[in-house]
Amino acid sequence: MANRIKPAANPRMSMVSPKGDCVDSLRYPDIADLMSRLHFSPGDGRIWLGDQRMLLVHTGSVGVMRRELIDSLGIDAARGLLTRMGYNSGARDAELARKVRPDSSITEMFAVGPQLHMLEGMTVVEPVRLEIDVEKGHYYGEFVWKNCAEDEEHVRIYGIGAEPVCWTQIGYASGYTSVFMGRPIVYREVECRALGQSQCRIVGKPVEEWGDEAADDLRFMQAQSFTQGLSAAAVKRDVKPDASVALLGDTRPPTPTAFGDDNMVGASPGFNAVCHMIRRVANTRATVLFLGESGVGKEVCARTLHRISACSDGPFVAVNCAAIPEALVESELFGVERGGFTDATHSRAGRFERADGGTLFLDEIGVLSLTAQGKLLRALQEGEIERIGDTQTRRVNVRVIAATNLDLKDEIRAGRFREDLYFRLNVFPIRVPSLRERREDLPVLLNHMLHKYRERHARDVTGFTGRALDALLNYGWPGNIREMENLVERGVILAPDGGAIDIGHLFTSGETIDAQMFGLGTNGSLMPSGSLLDQQAAGDGEAERVVRKVNDLLMGASGEIDPTSLDDIETALLKSAVQRAQGNLSAAARTLGITRPQLVYRLKSRGLRV
Ligand SMILES: [Zn+2]
Repeated sequence: MANRIKPAANPRMSMVSPKGDCVDSLRYPDIADLMSRLHFSPGDGRIWLGDQRMLLVHTGSVGVMRRELIDSLGIDAARGLLTRMGYNSGARDAELARKVRPDSSITEMFAVGPQLHMLEGMTVVEPVRLEIDVEKGHYYGEFVWKNCAEDEEHVRIYGIGAEPVCWTQIGYASGYTSVFMGRPIVYREVECRALGQSQCRIVGKPVEEWGDEAADDLRFMQAQSFTQGLSAAAVKRDVKPDASVALLGDTRPPTPTAFGDDNMVGASPGFNAVCHMIRRVANTRATVLFLGESGVGKEVCARTLHRISACSDGPFVAVNCAAIPEALVESELFGVERGGFTDATHSRAGRFERADGGTLFLDEIGVLSLTAQGKLLRALQEGEIERIGDTQTRRVNVRVIAATNLDLKDEIRAGRFREDLYFRLNVFPIRVPSLRERREDLPVLLNHMLHKYRERHARDVTGFTGRALDALLNYGWPGNIREMENLVERGVILAPDGGAIDIGHLFTSGETIDAQMFGLGTNGSLMPSGSLLDQQAAGDGEAERVVRKVNDLLMGASGEIDPTSLDDIETALLKSAVQRAQGNLSAAARTLGITRPQLVYRLKSRGLRV
């Protein structure tokens, strides 16, 4: 079926090479490589573009949804939602771009975006001018859109107006180019059919080159600014507008005094949801529980919450419960009184007392001893604490924010965590997504950290090389944002002055990366060594093809089915099992119900490295 789709028009592309000389004879590359990744699989009700499931929807019904959004939420909120939806799909397509044309020129690789945009039926994209230099971070893109589905629907319902309306498409272009470039690129629609013009025209540049001009466009890529609804106290302290949270591309160096070492950066739906929850709960007295893997930035979230809360004038005291020896936890938290039945020679206030009038952040709350949990519960319920060795109770006015990467319900079942404390803490849980769940934020975060460490170490580093970017975008980030901080900081230090960060500057054999676990693929991207096995297949989507064939066979798809050998299917299964087990052959063998020696034999007999 895919073959029946006619290739899109092949307009001439006027391009400018990095050196600035104009090349105006380039055309879009053949779109066949992209079309071959589009698969209709009616037997199981799926459409695939690469490994992404797609939908074929009616533009009319999208128009109905758009109308409902505008009428119920107002034009600003609707525009924001649709822009971010487009941003997300552009970011997804950019990941495909790097896979599909790894050996092409940079402009041909970039053309995947405009070509997919056409293939997906959004619009005709005609390039007017395109300048790309990934390493130097230079980008200028100007395109004309014709037959845009979005303004067609909008004009049909609302008629010609005063504002451009191709919101989803602008989001798409920004998301695609930001991920492709590894830094925030913002597009503006400078002409639109909804303004009565004959076509739409868009211009994209790095966010810092736009200055104030793009402030309005940026507004729609972020959920809500943390500076709205700041407490009176915070406003008094002269908080600079929107510097507190650089949701998209704040390129200013962070100012540690005012905003802490802030990494509340992102544009993904998952991140926006977290921001929304933080804003909602900040000005209440509710206890907040941050959940999520380690390194996702739970403490940064807690600091942000404190900063915009009514008690932001009070202290913010952070305690990592796992970092304090168990025997000392209680005295650290609640303090000690001299004499009595303790050995203490001095009376000392605990963290609770020091946080009086402010916020106490308890990280890794799941490791607290049961006794300490009991005292914490009392502090939360009664608002009073008792120093160790003291008979007197002290009133404290503290807002508690807790965080854990453990599943507290499991801890309760195991008898290690008090259920009553859990219910007390779980009043307002906020789950912070892992970096893997917010991949479209990678360019924004990388850019943010590049600026931060460039400033901190006074290094003149231009950006990331293409293959470094590939590796960063493909990487699994088990250590989340904390790991990214380490990698980028190391890269900034190691990269040559005036040059770009290359792959060797990022992934050294240091503590963050287990050298055993990762290998360099042929295209320069980093992958778990287990998946080197399937790398031979990764390029041509072998697993995908096999799945399709098996599916067609079992689901009785009509028409001709490509012949598949049983051997091909077995090979695909073996590779996939090894990949899923991240190269752990015993684990892979278990998933296949065979022994490790049997697996090794089968892999070797296929000439696969083990
Ligand atoms: Zn338009």
